[in-house]
Amino acid sequence: MLIAGNWKMNLNSSDLFEFQKLIVNEKIEKKVEIAIFPQFPQLQLAKQILSKYNVKIGAQSCSSQLSGAFTGDVSADAISDIGCDYCIVGHSERREFHNETNEFVKNSASLLLSQNITPIICVGESLNIKLQNRTQKFIHNQIKECIPDIVSSSLIIAYEPLWAIGTGRIPKNEEIMSVHNVIFNELSHVKNLKIIYGGSVNLSNCSNVLKLKNVHGALIGGSSLKFKDFLAIYKTAVKQVI
Ligand code: PEP
Repeated sequence: MLIAGNWKMNLNSSDLFEFQKLIVNEKIEKKVEIAIFPQFPQLQLAKQILSKYNVKIGAQSCSSQLSGAFTGDVSADAISDIGCDYCIVGHSERREFHNETNEFVKNSASLLLSQNITPIICVGESLNIKLQNRTQKFIHNQIKECIPDIVSSSLIIAYEPLWAIGTGRIPKNEEIMSVHNVIFNELSHVKNLKIIYGGSVNLSNCSNVLKLKNVHGALIGGSSLKFKDFLAIYKTAVKQVI
């Protein structure tokens, strides 16, 4: 199980120290990982002050190119240099605001795997696609186009319906389970596969989501910025597993 906090373009170094103050008193279980995804300039400090408490660190995006004249982009190599465990790829905000395509996602994920960083590949349908009952087909296609040809180590898929991100709306349990099943069937060849759910997970709904079969954790935006809530969600996950 993984509880991952996507801080997006929020918080700064002093917040990392605040988070550290709280995590010092937490017992981080082996069976449930906790990870945070701060902005690039804070990754090094996050690694330095949090990894001794078993908090995993991840980046929020990665270039689809190995290196070169790509001003402002960050390579898998640089992310590996910091010692990141994870990197989110293909988040819907990257797809929307930075035109990241399925092909881009596939290339970034391949480069991350080559650096032994676990990619967290985001997939999810828009409200329009949901209303047209095309969710399963759409996810099937995204998975086909985003997954690297060779997955040598572990891989995480985050199912994040676009209409659930930051809206307070969340799919029905059956809807989450059926999409996770589609992903599982498509990726049955991947040995270390986790499928996590993301989209408006909070302290009140987390136990309902985390108890579902085939849900191996959560990618959390808004509620990860409220550290006490985030840690309470972590404790809920621990209760489900242990
Ligand atoms: C996200 O953007 O990855 C996300 C899940 O956000 P929120 O939890 O705020 O819906």
